[in-house]
Amino acid sequence: MALKTADEYLESLRDGRTVYFRGRQVHDVTQHPVIGVAARHAAIDYRMAHDPAHRELCVVEDEAGEYSRYYQIPRTPDDLLQRSRLIEAATTEGATLVVLIKEIGTDALCGLLRVSSAVDAQHGTEYAPRVQAYYEHCRDNDLAVAVAQTDVKGDRALKPSAQVDPDMYVRIVDRNRDGIVVRGAKAHTSVSTNANELIVLPTRALGEADRDYAVSFAIPMNTPGLLLLASAFDSHGPQSSPVELPISAEHKMMETTTVFDNVFVPWERVFLAGEHDFAGPLALAFVEHHRFTAISYKLPLVDALVGSALLMAEMNGISKAGHVREKVVQLISYAETLRGLTHYAALMGKPREAGIAAPDPLYVNMAKYHFAHHYHDAVRNVQDIAGGALVTGPGAEDLESEATAPFYRKYYAGHGVGGEDRLKALTFVKNLVASEYGAYQEVLAVHAEGSLEAEKQMVARSYDRRAAVALVRRLAGLD
Ligand SMILES: Cc1cc2nc3c(=O)[nH]c(=O)nc-3n(C[C@H](O)[C@H](O)[C@H](O)COP(=O)(O)OP(=O)(O)OC[C@H]3O[C@@H](n4cnc5c(N)ncnc54)[C@H](O)[C@@H]3O)c2cc1C
Repeated sequence: MALKTADEYLESLRDGRTVYFRGRQVHDVTQHPVIGVAARHAAIDYRMAHDPAHRELCVVEDEAGEYSRYYQIPRTPDDLLQRSRLIEAATTEGATLVVLIKEIGTDALCGLLRVSSAVDAQHGTEYAPRVQAYYEHCRDNDLAVAVAQTDVKGDRALKPSAQVDPDMYVRIVDRNRDGIVVRGAKAHTSVSTNANELIVLPTRALGEADRDYAVSFAIPMNTPGLLLLASAFDSHGPQSSPVELPISAEHKMMETTTVFDNVFVPWERVFLAGEHDFAGPLALAFVEHHRFTAISYKLPLVDALVGSALLMAEMNGISKAGHVREKVVQLISYAETLRGLTHYAALMGKPREAGIAAPDPLYVNMAKYHFAHHYHDAVRNVQDIAGGALVTGPGAEDLESEATAPFYRKYYAGHGVGGEDRLKALTFVKNLVASEYGAYQEVLAVHAEGSLEAEKQMVARSYDRRAAVALVRRLAGLD
């Protein structure tokens, strides 16, 4: 058992997996001009574990040996806080983009470890020891794990078995002595092109009629019949000059439409197969951990929005203007409310099934909703303060050409700053809030880890109304 190096991780991705990008098969994801950027971005996780500056945060040692902290099962609020700090630090290394290759997989493993014993107790199945063995396999081999929960879903108003095409949610199409065969497709699966393993979870609560859709399992990425259709979005940024796109030339997360074309899964890798009454609890247990990951990895992003506003205000000579101060205060409050709620969600975390500590769902969902609901306002404030040069400025070649560069250096000077430095700052802010990467972050804010409505539902469900009602009844003299 050993912590992998970044090179060993990249080498492990050359395993014959089936990946398509813009209609063409990709035989080696590490060498691909776009997916290779995502793979090297993900390698941050392995580099940090070997970096003395980060090692204490990234690595734990206990009776199981030395392993990545992502694989530490949280037992206390402090474990949750440390996990949040690790995710925040890794995202900072990723220049505001989450790494995710161990975050999401371990969220799913926490959900599975919590729920599988209850399934066994109710149905006489043997899932808990399988999940435990799989968890140890991933931990001991320091694996990168993607999670496919969101089904393609077809008509959102219809249940899986009521769809015109029965494959709109991943389902079991055959069972035999050795395992199950599954068919269907999952949408938006992050980091799958550059993970070692894929965990599949149900996306929603299911009834008896949908029992074949109540399925959870794990497979290696080179499993026959597993097709990874890579997203084409923001595929120009990663091939550009870092001078022009300082974030997205070197950092990328890749999503896939993940097709299961009659994929065989052996029983030892099956964690739910027809027990429909546990599809909802399993989906929810994963989400309870995963939204905490989400709010943790948003922190460097919102800090970068605050820093961008402050720096651009300074360089534009408008720091003291009343409207700018107001916008900066809004941004600071936005970021620090998120940080406060994130830490409080960890501090209020409680041991749940199997003694696994889960963050408080009320504060997690309040934090995620707060972040997502106000993200576009925060971006607007940064765009406002930075000015229109976000979309009218030079490209990398303009800054190299002697015919154009002197003009840019002269005419982009600002308050106490030369044109070259102001352009560097503007270029970073452009990549953050006015590029394909910026648009990606906006959609990620709204949809990833659940839509706004999903978070609102959880806030309503998690809040204990009794104390507030009792207070008002008492003050109103009703009791
Ligand atoms: C960049 C990115 C990365 C992601 N990574 C992953 C990942 O790694 N793994 C994974 O499993 N998922 C991932 N997701 C999926 C994410 O969780 C979903 O996008 C989210 O759950 C919304 O689902 P959807 O995109 O299908 O949108 P939809 O569910 O179609 O939502 C669109 C709108 O329809 C509404 N809606 C949907 N159904 C109903 C209904 N029945 N009644 C009323 N309104 C409804 C929603 O509230 C929303 O307003 C990722 C998403 C993004 C954008």
